[in-house]
Amino acid sequence: MSAPTIDPAPAFPLPEGITPDMMAAAALLDAGPVDPDLIPCGRCGEPPLVHDADHPHETPPAYALALAAAAADGREVMADLVEHLDAEHVPSGKKGPSASDAGKCRRALWYRDRPPADYVPRTIDSRRAALGTILHKANAEVRAVRYPWRRYELRVAVPGLDRDCLVDEYDPVLGRVGDLKSAGEAKWAIVGDDGPTADQWAQLRINAYALDFAGYPVRELELIQVNRDTGAEEHFREDYDPAAGLAALDDLIEAATMVEAGVVPPRDGYGPRDWRCQWCPAMDHCWQTARAAELKRSPESLIALGETPDDPSIAWAGREVLTLSKARLELEKREARAKALLQGITPGQYDKDAPDGGVEIVDKWSTSYGYKEAYETIRDLYELPDDVRPPLDQVGDVPKKRSKSTGVTKPRAATRAADRRRPKPKALPAADAAAAAVAAQLDAGGRS
Ligand code: SF4
Ligand SMILES: [Zn+2]
Repeated sequence: MSAPTIDPAPAFPLPEGITPDMMAAAALLDAGPVDPDLIPCGRCGEPPLVHDADHPHETPPAYALALAAAAADGREVMADLVEHLDAEHVPSGKKGPSASDAGKCRRALWYRDRPPADYVPRTIDSRRAALGTILHKANAEVRAVRYPWRRYELRVAVPGLDRDCLVDEYDPVLGRVGDLKSAGEAKWAIVGDDGPTADQWAQLRINAYALDFAGYPVRELELIQVNRDTGAEEHFREDYDPAAGLAALDDLIEAATMVEAGVVPPRDGYGPRDWRCQWCPAMDHCWQTARAAELKRSPESLIALGETPDDPSIAWAGREVLTLSKARLELEKREARAKALLQGITPGQYDKDAPDGGVEIVDKWSTSYGYKEAYETIRDLYELPDDVRPPLDQVGDVPKKRSKSTGVTKPRAATRAADRRRPKPKALPAADAAAAAVAAQLDAGGRS
């Protein structure tokens, strides 16, 4: 067969980085998709089929480029990043729990380290985690240069554990151990209401304890939360307490020992709606979701009450619902009375200096749609004869109504804390100059 002719050197100069092969590949793709079976050999011009080991087929660079570009077309950014990060990951070859398991569900440890025979983990979309990893990498890269006296991604041995911990950020001058967390919408809300979760503190306390144990000065812990949706950031600090670090480490070792001894630890998650379970690879097995769906029961019910619940168990669950709905009705009445007190109050922050941060009164706008009215209008029109009924685009939209009410919110815990004690960021030029001076000093002193 004859190969389509490729103009090897265009008559005009190409911009930097653009090669004649690229232009030739573009021309090839312009003519239609490239069939790999029909690519003419670079030496003899014949298709791949007529080649063998003595005369292997040579794909001309323009064809290779055309194939590569066509294959890369439409590849997702996140798919590429996830693949790259997976390939980069080198298993440490160490065993047992790591500091990052601290405060996590104990049964999840069991699933990971001593799974039951019939367990098949479900695949968890790793894109979220990849975004977190990318943030950590960028943080380490950028801030290690800007603050050269700090250590980023510092590996430290943890007493009693086989695996080292990885400290995101450590400042020996301030004695501060930092951990960076990126939060999606749900986690951000949890952190906003109640501060960082227990497992986040437990992990950081163990990291701090490990640093202290290794002789690094440690005075303070800092959890940095970054909202993955908005880029908003909150910092939470606590004084270093070796006893708290040791306690977190003890809990972790106890859970790991339990698993090691073959004991099945309790579930620490509440069920498929719990954020821990939602991101747990064991969720389907742990909560028997398939069997529950078959029985048309909720997974929580199947696990708590069993396949054939006895009367007392059902009555117990029934009484729970009755007691709680009675309490809810009572609370709703009280809420309505309290809300009435706020109606018409000017929006703003009130009692800001109180220990709980006071409250924020806000105007709440809501929109309601008249679907019922719209439905009735259309039904009336539908009954008209064809020649009288107006075309659909003249019927008009569903009527909507905007209304305002007075609402109340709690300022986010971190915002309150920041108002109280976070120093204003220093002017950047001064900080940069200080960083440069320290970098020069460290270089001169032969930094190890
Ligand atoms: S599904 Fe929930 S309770 Fe079960 S192991 Fe995972 S986190 Fe624990
Ligand atoms: Zn050939």
